[in-house]
Amino acid sequence: MIGVRPPGSDVVWFRAGNFLVAVDPASVDSARDQVLEGPVEMHVSLTDACGVGCPACYVDARPDGATPPLATILERVRAIAAEGVRTVAFGGGEPLLRADLYEIAEEARRLGLVAVITTSGFGPSGADVVHQLAHFDQVNLSHDGVDGGYAAVRGRDGSERVAGLTTRLVDAGVRVGWNVVLTRNNFNMLRATVAAAAELGVADVQLLRVKPAGRATDLIYRSLRLTAEQVAALPGLLAELVAGAPSIRIDCALIPFLLSIDATDEVARNFAQRMKQTGVFGCEAGRSLAALRTDGTRAGCSFEPRAEASHAPAFHQALPAPCNTCTLQEVCRGGCRIVAARSGDPEGRDLECPRVLAHRDRP
Ligand code: SF4
Ligand code: SF4
Repeated sequence: MIGVRPPGSDVVWFRAGNFLVAVDPASVDSARDQVLEGPVEMHVSLTDACGVGCPACYVDARPDGATPPLATILERVRAIAAEGVRTVAFGGGEPLLRADLYEIAEEARRLGLVAVITTSGFGPSGADVVHQLAHFDQVNLSHDGVDGGYAAVRGRDGSERVAGLTTRLVDAGVRVGWNVVLTRNNFNMLRATVAAAAELGVADVQLLRVKPAGRATDLIYRSLRLTAEQVAALPGLLAELVAGAPSIRIDCALIPFLLSIDATDEVARNFAQRMKQTGVFGCEAGRSLAALRTDGTRAGCSFEPRAEASHAPAFHQALPAPCNTCTLQEVCRGGCRIVAARSGDPEGRDLECPRVLAHRDRP
């Protein structure tokens, strides 16, 4: 297991692919701690097709998007299993538009991979949907919030549909997660969303930072990203949420927001030290994380633009100020490259990080 308990925290953060998972420390067997090396998680796109038309879709999925044949997907799954990948996270586009998810899950699991799939829930809705999804180790449904949170992010309200599919999957014994893209428009609904997830038997809620990729152009991204006040409130809110059920997962890009800028040097040092010792890191693009697009090309992570090699590993080798003196530098690795690439900052810094902003704005 790979875990870290931030100082003063009642929870332990575990790394799972590019996510940190908060769990009860009583369940931790510290004698079995280890550090994972190399690519452990591969995001595999099953299709670029989707008819939902979310304005901030990070892959710019469209109804006529490409869908590789089953034989191609199975060949890719076998290749990544042979490479030593442990978790394969299937996504799209909308995977439910395929009729062969069952076969894909079966092959991945036969090869010893943990097979996870993410879907919006929009697609065929008959009994076959549960059959298609039931063979994945976990099904993650995109649900950006109750009480209007979903519509505030995606422009239409799909929350009832997602809740209905959640119930059907949970009743069938499938482990279900909800993916919540955190934006300024649904931040205030997060408590209620997590409570609704608990009510429906959702195993974990995965919080993701909104990133300027695909259809999330600069304008859309800037209108959705968290406000500075929300970023400041996030550590406290997370501490509250991880104390209950379901488990809370945090994506790699949220690492700069995990520790309050008001934390003392000692707290920051202890935080960074424990995370480092136990192998918990932020940006994994081109390291333990990789992505396979529908055309078979590889990316450092699923948010990286097409036709560009990952710049992340080179950036990690020569961080600019203030990252190069930041206590969290080895853990965080300078924030999210996707955000930074569109920030306009000539040094490629993640301008949403409160420590970067404080450095930039100081006299
Ligand atoms: S570039 Fe951003 S989204 Fe991609 S792995 Fe790094 S932190 Fe995560
Ligand atoms: S200053 Fe840089 S390394 Fe430190 S938390 Fe912010 S982005 Fe990460």
